[in-house]
Amino acid sequence: MHQFTAKVFNFVVDKTSVFSKVKTRVETLSLNRQKMAKDCLFVSDLHGKVNRYEKLFRHLEEEPPAALFMGGDLLPASILHSFRAGENMPDFVSDYLADKFMRLKEKLKDNYPRVFIIMGNDDPKIEEQALLEHEKKGLWEYVQGRFVSFGAYRVFGYAYVPPTPFLLKDWERFDIHQETKPGCIPPTEGFRTQNSNTVNQTIEDDLQNLLLNQDLSKTICMFHSPPYQTVLDRAGLDGVSVDEQIIDVHVGSVAIKNLINKKKPYMTLHGHIHESSRLTGKWTEKINKTTAISAAWEGPGLAVVKFRVDQPDHAERVIL
Ligand SMILES: [Zn+2]
Repeated sequence: MHQFTAKVFNFVVDKTSVFSKVKTRVETLSLNRQKMAKDCLFVSDLHGKVNRYEKLFRHLEEEPPAALFMGGDLLPASILHSFRAGENMPDFVSDYLADKFMRLKEKLKDNYPRVFIIMGNDDPKIEEQALLEHEKKGLWEYVQGRFVSFGAYRVFGYAYVPPTPFLLKDWERFDIHQETKPGCIPPTEGFRTQNSNTVNQTIEDDLQNLLLNQDLSKTICMFHSPPYQTVLDRAGLDGVSVDEQIIDVHVGSVAIKNLINKKKPYMTLHGHIHESSRLTGKWTEKINKTTAISAAWEGPGLAVVKFRVDQPDHAERVIL
């Protein structure tokens, strides 16, 4: 009798623990699904600044999001200086970035976010190989020129910007014509860390090839350049003229703006113009149906844009 009671009791205990395991699993799954919809983080233009990265990694550890979007200009200028001086380049991607993400992955385990990465015009293209190497370890997804799926959505990345006054041309292209605005250096000049046989190609050509036949209604496009003539591409060039020509204070891409108007992507993420939000007081703009957001930031600290994929218009920006 006692034995029987004990057996029944054990059975009940086992059943309870199985039930609680199932319940926990169901709760975790629905939590993950909620998270998928909820927490995405977008940062850009960290320029290898370790204090910004440390803030980012602390935040990722404390409140792991479903996804982290990194919009280019991620690496320190010291890489380029060493490259130009013919010295050994610091291996920031392996020694710092991949190392930090690997530690985060080990800590967060199943809660490790999807990490979508593109480079920016300040990132030497010679480092692309290192990003691809570490992608194989599952640390991030390098989305330059390609689509990856993200739940019911897709993510696409594109690093090229229109010609700038800067010399590094790895990630620059003519915009819609083979013209360069006053004060800027054409991509056919300057220097590169990798040879290119597409220096005459325009951003418009690229976007036509990559996106024209795509349905972008559920695609988050991450472009390092902001779209032209928006609150996101306003540069601090007021009153500046070169050879008696007044410089346009909007420095974004016409091709990207045209693409947004024509193909109406679900959402676009941008960086590049650090001072735009100080000058316009805004970091997001609605272009027809598309929510366009910039995470570029010139102040101290790190700007982090948080958004739910299903509610892009309710994005918020915090400065860490
Ligand atoms: Zn930048």
